[in-house]
Amino acid sequence: MLAAIVVLGVACVPACRDTTPAPATVPGHAEAPGPPITPRVPDNVVIISIDTLRADRVGAYGWTRARTPALDALARAGTRFERAYATAPITLTSHASLLTGRYPPGHGARHNGMRVSGEVRTLAHILAARGMATGAFIGAFPLDRRFGLAGGFADGYSDTMPRDDRGRARNERPGRVVMDEALAWLAARGTRPFFAWIHLFEPHAPYEGDSSPGGVGAGARSASDRYDDEVARADREVQRLIDALQARNDTTLVVATADHGESFGEHGEIGHSLFVYDTTLRVPLIVAAVGRASGGAGGRIVQAPVSLVDVVPTIHELLALPPPDADGTSLVAVMADPARAPARALYAESFAPLIDFGWSALRSLRVDGQKAIAAPTPELFDLAADPGESTNIAATNAARLQALVQRIERLSPAELPRNAPVAQDAEARARLQALGYVATAPAPAQGTRPDPKDRRDLAARIAAVTSGELTGVALRDALTRIVHEDPRNAQMQMRLGFAWLEAGDCPAAMPHFRAAIDAQLPSADPYLGLAECEGAAGRAAAALATLGRAMTVEPGNPVVLANAGILELARNEPARAITRLDAALAIAPDLHVARFTLARAHGRLGHRADAAREATELLRRLPRDAPQRAEVQRLLDAVR
Ligand SMILES: [Zn+2]
Repeated sequence: MLAAIVVLGVACVPACRDTTPAPATVPGHAEAPGPPITPRVPDNVVIISIDTLRADRVGAYGWTRARTPALDALARAGTRFERAYATAPITLTSHASLLTGRYPPGHGARHNGMRVSGEVRTLAHILAARGMATGAFIGAFPLDRRFGLAGGFADGYSDTMPRDDRGRARNERPGRVVMDEALAWLAARGTRPFFAWIHLFEPHAPYEGDSSPGGVGAGARSASDRYDDEVARADREVQRLIDALQARNDTTLVVATADHGESFGEHGEIGHSLFVYDTTLRVPLIVAAVGRASGGAGGRIVQAPVSLVDVVPTIHELLALPPPDADGTSLVAVMADPARAPARALYAESFAPLIDFGWSALRSLRVDGQKAIAAPTPELFDLAADPGESTNIAATNAARLQALVQRIERLSPAELPRNAPVAQDAEARARLQALGYVATAPAPAQGTRPDPKDRRDLAARIAAVTSGELTGVALRDALTRIVHEDPRNAQMQMRLGFAWLEAGDCPAAMPHFRAAIDAQLPSADPYLGLAECEGAAGRAAAALATLGRAMTVEPGNPVVLANAGILELARNEPARAITRLDAALAIAPDLHVARFTLARAHGRLGHRADAAREATELLRRLPRDAPQRAEVQRLLDAVR
């Protein structure tokens, strides 16, 4: 019921803190104008982040075709920030700002696959130290605990993705599953106050549904329409959360937002992560109280520009905690009186061009209705007259632009710091690539790096490939064009190799695997593709030599070890196979094909007990409905 959702427009005035269990310090804003709307501090806090959700695709933000009743109701009941911006159009980077209140240079995770600095405290650390239960419920791999956001979530960081029928971990999971877990966790908290972070991945590409090229297939729908479908699915999970919180006998502060937007061709971009235009930086931000709190008028709209770094300071003030050490500022005063908008300079960046392609990073500053972007060809936009950022006014405002670029340089240099914390292992890199984030290329020296704007056509074609939206012939055609234009793009050469391999055409695939290897892609993957083709042609010795080279590129890659073991058994070397397969399974015990081959290798040598042990272990590890179970059972029966 909407009526039960009330806004937390301002923080508590001192008199009302009597009703709260353990207020920390007297908030310094008791004189803020406007009526105190909610006469108490909330018991709980929930941040819900909907990945890749553009603000302008939410009904409350004006999208007439939206099916977002839950977010719209939250906005009607609470405060909606019309101009909220991410600090980077990238999942990990942006979420790290949301949860620490720091710009990316302050938390260190400048791109997916890097690590949040261990010295930075998240909101979870702070609220856990105040005695609140803290739990996180994650929808996709870029926020896996290895990337550094799990610290502080003392009561659970749920980031285990389901496995496919080959035993490989998937990279995302349905919001329904995430919300099931979160709601079960909330229900088990009893009366202890909690902080939950819930991450829904639905709107991220690929978008579910028929994507037949040109929309010719029965039921084929455009990417944009299927994106709206995914947003609607995420909104249904938000509704389940609101229903659960309303049924409680306490009050929960809900912050609903996104980590970045999505581009459907604006500025020549597909997807997100490259540019820092508002297409991918503008996000919804809605703050509301849900549950037992009473009274108050909702539906406030704040026009002042705000950033995701403001969320942590705002939550601090609403909980009557002392201000945190953060780059952002509390929005409580402007929530109470939208006319009190403070003068702000909001920073955002993208280091994906540098890290993925060796192109220049992009850094931006939004101040006084203008936005400057530091790049080889810098840009300046008048956001009031030109919200679409289509006209670069740099030429006629050179002094202004120079001053802003100097401010940007002070906030963040164009280089990454040396020893930036990277949490990249082979598996992590492969899983991030599968979600559309590209490979690490050696960066050329600053000054020689291309401006991403000058590569936008190439970038858009690459993004169309990495989005996962293209398949079959369309995918091979797109990749063929890319490697024709950019033959040194090792990642795309490798992808084209795998696209041909998937089509069963090894003669077409092998030159592209070799090109990726020659371009020194720092990955075992092109070797794995090449070895698969060599093995399929009956050239086991050549394939094993290729895998040997892969082991020097990526020592300890379990898939390389497993494939070497499979090849050794295929050429009737079971003892050598066992050595390789044992090594693979010691690193990755859920490589089911490796364990099946290991059982067969033991059987080949007459090690019936060892074979039975491995087959039994495999049955224990395989999902209950896995199609391979029958074959494993036959092997087990044969060696018993
Ligand atoms: Zn994201």
